[in-house]
Amino acid sequence: MIERRQTRSITVGGVPIGGTSPISVQSMLKTNPEDFQATSDQARALKRVGCELIRIALPQEETCKIIPFLKREIGVPIIGDVHFNHNIALRAMEQGIDCVRINPGTINNMRKIKEVASIAKQTGTPIRIGINIGSLEKRILRKYREPGADAMVESALYYVKVFEDVGHEQLKVSLKASDVLQSLSAYHKFSAVSDYPLHIGITEAGPPFSGAIKSAVGIGALLYHGIGDTIRVSLTGDPTYEVIAGYHILRGLGLRKRGINIISCPTCGRCRTRLNEIVEEFERDVASIDSYLDVAIMGCEVNGPGEARHADLGVAFGADKAILFQKGAVKRAGIPKEMAKEALLEEIHNMLNC
Ligand code: SF4
Repeated sequence: MIERRQTRSITVGGVPIGGTSPISVQSMLKTNPEDFQATSDQARALKRVGCELIRIALPQEETCKIIPFLKREIGVPIIGDVHFNHNIALRAMEQGIDCVRINPGTINNMRKIKEVASIAKQTGTPIRIGINIGSLEKRILRKYREPGADAMVESALYYVKVFEDVGHEQLKVSLKASDVLQSLSAYHKFSAVSDYPLHIGITEAGPPFSGAIKSAVGIGALLYHGIGDTIRVSLTGDPTYEVIAGYHILRGLGLRKRGINIISCPTCGRCRTRLNEIVEEFERDVASIDSYLDVAIMGCEVNGPGEARHADLGVAFGADKAILFQKGAVKRAGIPKEMAKEALLEEIHNMLNC
């Protein structure tokens, strides 16, 4: 059982973050924010797979006009991502954004950061202070000579104080680096001296397969030590995979149980079916199911039901037919192979009443 570090609790658009709240899963839109249709379609796709917080890049002030539209259409809290121009953060708050992520290193002007802090205080907008190793402010770089964990932590604490000085404590912090060890070190050091909730992730992790592994190592190692209140798996590709990967990480550590946990065998010479294709299709079919079930998809009838006897439901394939099993006992036999996946989906829906 993982013991989570005690952090303060904040709320982003109704979603509690920190304290004893469940660790939330977020992702980021990758469409052009000027294109309302494509952006809302992608936001809906994220919502379907369980995304609880959706971040959107706001490259210019004009882009903020999408905020009320998305909030009305999607019903998931929207976080605005702001770099360089603090006026965008001000406009986003005026438009009712649920949270602003600022990278203070790219704004690099104390008057402007203070202005963001006082408007955030006035509007009650939570802020993520998003420190990135690649954009630390010059003052910090002069002191540390090169970017690293200590420099990131000092930068984060400095900006936390700027917000505290105006009385705004609805804050969360991230300290991201694409190097896993540097990220781990920064998060460990920060959480030893501060109890603000932490958004964790490995930035620029890479394409879906290798990026998900890298993220699982980094995010998983932090979560195992009780660090992290909200997570994002950053992948180059379809953002729904970021959400799915996020839940896999949380599920693997027993921190959250959402959706269908697919147990599938690696196959061997006994397998007479294209199990990989069936599993891939099945994963897409069940991505929007919230309730938790362990479901097995096994490559042979001889060993499958026994090897996956702990599964709530399962299917095992023979040469032409398949069987459905429940907790290791046969439930239905003689199902034509091509109908087996549908039969399994039907059983899942019956079991979950959905
Ligand atoms: S369930 Fe059957 S096909 Fe799959 S790995 Fe085990 S023995 Fe091989």
